[in-house]
Amino acid sequence: MISKEHIIKRFVSYVTIDTESDPNSNTTPSTKKQWDLAIKLTEELKSIGMSDVSIDENAYIMATLPSNVEHDVPTIGFISHFDTSPDFTGANVKPQIIEEYNGKDIVLNREENIVLSPDYFEDLLQYKGQTLISTDGNTLLGADDKAGICEIVSAMEYLINHPEIKHGTIRVGFTPDEEIGRGAHKFDVKKFGADWAYTMDGSQIGELEYENFNAASAVVKIKGKIVHPGYAKGKMVNSMYIANEFINSLPRMETPEHTDEYQGFFHLHDMEGNVEETTLQYIIRDHDKKHFKARKEVMLNLTDELNSQYGREVITTEIKDQYFNMREKIEPVMHIVDIAEAAMKAVDVEPIIKAIRGGTDGSQLSYMGLPCPNIFAGGHNFHGRYEYVPVESMIKATEVICKIAELTALNSKT
Ligand SMILES: [Zn+2]
Repeated sequence: MISKEHIIKRFVSYVTIDTESDPNSNTTPSTKKQWDLAIKLTEELKSIGMSDVSIDENAYIMATLPSNVEHDVPTIGFISHFDTSPDFTGANVKPQIIEEYNGKDIVLNREENIVLSPDYFEDLLQYKGQTLISTDGNTLLGADDKAGICEIVSAMEYLINHPEIKHGTIRVGFTPDEEIGRGAHKFDVKKFGADWAYTMDGSQIGELEYENFNAASAVVKIKGKIVHPGYAKGKMVNSMYIANEFINSLPRMETPEHTDEYQGFFHLHDMEGNVEETTLQYIIRDHDKKHFKARKEVMLNLTDELNSQYGREVITTEIKDQYFNMREKIEPVMHIVDIAEAAMKAVDVEPIIKAIRGGTDGSQLSYMGLPCPNIFAGGHNFHGRYEYVPVESMIKATEVICKIAELTALNSKT
């Protein structure tokens, strides 16, 4: 239905604009350069014929495709982000097009011997015969999430050019700064005005997600006492040893490297210390709300225990919630997942429904009143030089968007 060349051209026009976000910036968008693509996108949305195209002072873009039916249909939205991860450079992206992928190694960079190999990335083999877009080995690609934007724009364009496909009002939203966890922060849910939406921000073809972690961060500060080591007997308190005790009192197997699927964890991601003071930085993750709460209590109880053992407050633990499992907000409106699943099947995509071991903008949006499951955008190996996306997956995602629009209108017919 949609030509490969058209998709490739659009996608390349996005990824060759650097939009890396910056966690150390306090502005929105976090980097000025995100405006370059944001402005281009608003122009493009206007040029394909979208209505109410707007961009606010924080570079959040919204647009409308008006309904083309008489009956009432819920307003649905499609959302993606135009920033790329600060984990790897997004400057001077030079996309490589590999036609009819033969299932062998893809040399990204001959001089530096950087190879995208199915020996290591087995997922490649499911795309034999397809057209892949990769990097030249020096940058990330930015399919996360410019593939999502490309799919949404292409689907809107397709629906505009094919008025015989009946749909209700569709809203489109593009955000900055998702990669630094702020994509949803300044999203005006009321202005967006959709009954529900989908982020097009998943990975491989078929992914459909409505469960994610409950997430908190914990900062554990341990106070010691420095005394001249030659005269320290009975006086010195070495905070690093107490930190060690704290670390070893948490279950060693409940860490990211020992868990998968629905298993939660404590993750010590940073420690810094000397005799006088040691700081441990943890993140706590669990899909299950009760287990999540229990994990936080384990840390606080351990803090109390060690404090009473040392007879004074040597440890302070500060826990902050970050985001919650969207499942709670999606379950009452499960039909929105069912529609996405039916849409995938209707365009011959096998749905892969699984829990995200992380968060999405959709989880924040769901708690802000906009239920928002996540759908595949098609890419693999995000945030690095091995990132790639099959063009066929982008076309399927575009078809899924069109089909969701169509089914939503069909389902609400009385
Ligand atoms: Zn993303």
